[in-house]
Amino acid sequence: PVVTRFAPSPTGYLHIGGARTALFNWLYARHTGGTMLLRIEDTDRERSTESATAAILDGLTWLGLTWEGEPISQFGRAQRHREVAEYLVAKGKAYYAYETPAELEAMREKARAEGRPPRYDGRWRDADSSEAPAGVKGAIRIKAPRDGETVVRDRVQGDVRFPNKDLDDFIILRSDGVPTYMHAVVVDDHDMGVTHIIRGDDHLTNAARQTVIYDAMGWEVPVMAHIPLIHGADGAKLSKRHGALGVEAYRAMGYLPAALLNYLARLGWSHGDDEVMSIGDMVRWFEIEDVNRGAARFDFQKLEALNGLYMRRMDDAELTEALVATLPHLATPGPLAAGIDETHKAKLLAAMPGLKERAKTLVELADSATYLFAQRPLAMDEKAVALLGERPRTVLAGAWAALTGVAGDWTAQSTEAAVREFATAQGVKLGQVAQPLRAALTGRSTSPGVFDVLAVLGREESLARIGDQID
Ligand code: GLU
Repeated sequence: PVVTRFAPSPTGYLHIGGARTALFNWLYARHTGGTMLLRIEDTDRERSTESATAAILDGLTWLGLTWEGEPISQFGRAQRHREVAEYLVAKGKAYYAYETPAELEAMREKARAEGRPPRYDGRWRDADSSEAPAGVKGAIRIKAPRDGETVVRDRVQGDVRFPNKDLDDFIILRSDGVPTYMHAVVVDDHDMGVTHIIRGDDHLTNAARQTVIYDAMGWEVPVMAHIPLIHGADGAKLSKRHGALGVEAYRAMGYLPAALLNYLARLGWSHGDDEVMSIGDMVRWFEIEDVNRGAARFDFQKLEALNGLYMRRMDDAELTEALVATLPHLATPGPLAAGIDETHKAKLLAAMPGLKERAKTLVELADSATYLFAQRPLAMDEKAVALLGERPRTVLAGAWAALTGVAGDWTAQSTEAAVREFATAQGVKLGQVAQPLRAALTGRSTSPGVFDVLAVLGREESLARIGDQID
């Protein structure tokens, strides 16, 4: 059965590229009935933090990208990494090397002078152990093949060939006994039974070196799939400005996990022309072979549009719940920041059909709900003030009078009928009444349909808000 893994380094938040890598591993495991494991690559003790690990687990959990079993700490497996390195020495596939920093620098200097990449010259490769300097603990270097080539058979990139003369005898265990990242990854993937390695194509050269270790151990190389990195909409490498943020920032901006997953899946993978896919669809359709080779472009506008679509598709109660549950995480929760009770919820639910037509994120949704909870007299934004000049106020006074005459139920229909009748009688266009009405009711120049706003606010509150503007 298929075993994939997501192997983040806990040096920062779970960024959007990492989330996509996790998603592809998760989708492929689900698609094949296999499992996804989680390994925290915390060998860099200086840069790895507990809070980064927590943020990564949080981000994955928010997205619903579940893993099997406990997260595995790479650092916790250092003893095993050492044992494998020593086993390779015993088998003659690796060796202790004792060069000094000055010797290494001289090698680098020589390479620079000859205009080629620096390479270890293998000076201890064939040395006798009796030649080892006394009292010095050497580093362990792998005996990389010198002729021919190492081929990475990649499911996305095809066969990628690396001439062995470019792969030097790299270190697998430092002289202080700390395993190198390159070595730890191979030992862990093997021990965890990983069958498929799906990760960013910035690891492609590592894959060649890792293949050398697999071969030395006589282990089978897992299937490799190096996926293209995500670029900004302008084609440049993804930066903060482009959306290279942690997933918690996307939660704070008010994106729904399902919409973000749908968007991320389409970054570098496609299934025909399908743009909108449920998680079930993605699981059913995901094939590594359909991952594109070219860099994917991150486009905020597309993400927004997709998120808006997801919001409109949700039913009102579900969307209200999602908004309420996400409020504490939103960057700008609006007037609801103070907390929400059942009355608030009921108002939100009643207003939801109008609110969700316009909002593309939960932040916009919360913001557009401001009018529901505003205190009288309403604060007016600049555009609303502009809509309430002298003449519009006269019109507004007439509309107020017409609305006080609404008999029976106060609904969008009954209020609309009253306002229309008034507009016709005055010979003014409906918009000339609706705009100042909107300003008076919401304090803004844009809002859901003004008759929906009237209905949601109710007779008393509506008339009072209009009254505030005509006194
Ligand atoms: N820890 C590596 C990273 O965060 C991933 C290594 C791997 O997937 O093999 O880039």
